[in-house]
Amino acid sequence: MDTYLHRNCPLCGGTSATTEVSSARCGESLEFAEIQKFWSGLFKEKVFFSYARCQACKLLYCPEYFQSDQIAQLYADMAPNMDLVPSAALVATQQGYWQAVADLVPSGGDYLEIGPDVGYVAQQAAASGKFGHFWLFEPNVAVHPTLARATGDCSNTILAEMEDFSTVPDGSVGLAVMIHVLDHLLDPLTTLSAIRSKLRPDGALLIVTHNEQSLLRKLMATRWPPFCLQHPEVYNPRSITALLEKSGYGSVNVARSTNHFPLDFMIRQAAHAFGLKLDKVPLPKRALGLKLGNIQTIARF
Ligand SMILES: [Zn+2]
Repeated sequence: MDTYLHRNCPLCGGTSATTEVSSARCGESLEFAEIQKFWSGLFKEKVFFSYARCQACKLLYCPEYFQSDQIAQLYADMAPNMDLVPSAALVATQQGYWQAVADLVPSGGDYLEIGPDVGYVAQQAAASGKFGHFWLFEPNVAVHPTLARATGDCSNTILAEMEDFSTVPDGSVGLAVMIHVLDHLLDPLTTLSAIRSKLRPDGALLIVTHNEQSLLRKLMATRWPPFCLQHPEVYNPRSITALLEKSGYGSVNVARSTNHFPLDFMIRQAAHAFGLKLDKVPLPKRALGLKLGNIQTIARF
């Protein structure tokens, strides 16, 4: 048996793809026991499975990737995120996601999120008073108590599950959210179709992903951080629109999203690049908002 999965294009099923980006030693050339060391990103050498562009639909994806049981093992061995005190910059970034959809979601529906982490967006949604029940699918059980508190007075169901949404009633959800989740999925079509069946006809789905057509990707080339072992495919505005339309969504809107970075961190990084050390110099703590390589996509039923 082959070590890794050989995949057709996860968007259109195409079998012909042209390799576009590879690491110096590519993932598919390494044994599983060896590649495991690179999963957490602690090793300096960058290793990922080669990305190829589907000749039919232009999606950029890995034709060879981990098998499902390998993925389960890798995520299980990963140390859970215990960083329960978020930075002001992270909070500002997540508030921006909620503000992008706050005005267009209907009142009275339920809320569904896949991979909500500690519930940055869920907390904003709960505070808006627009939603009934919260359905939260979060594999990291360590954050479940924090997540439960984020929903405030609203009722919630929190499951350590990423694929089976059968407990959610069909046609009940006003807003579904996936932030940096879609590009981790082996079979995004199945997940997106399942979520659509849970939406109300006036409901919406908000997705945040990286954009492989961004300026940042062009500048950084193979060093672009989203080229990594965790992403079996990466999207651009055109390919994510095609994916959502194929999953049955009626209207799809893609915009660049804003990431907030701590200003002191940015200045220290820039100084470091010029060989200056500012470790002892006090710097402003404010956050700086930049549209840098990410896109937010809003799909309607
Ligand atoms: Zn394709």
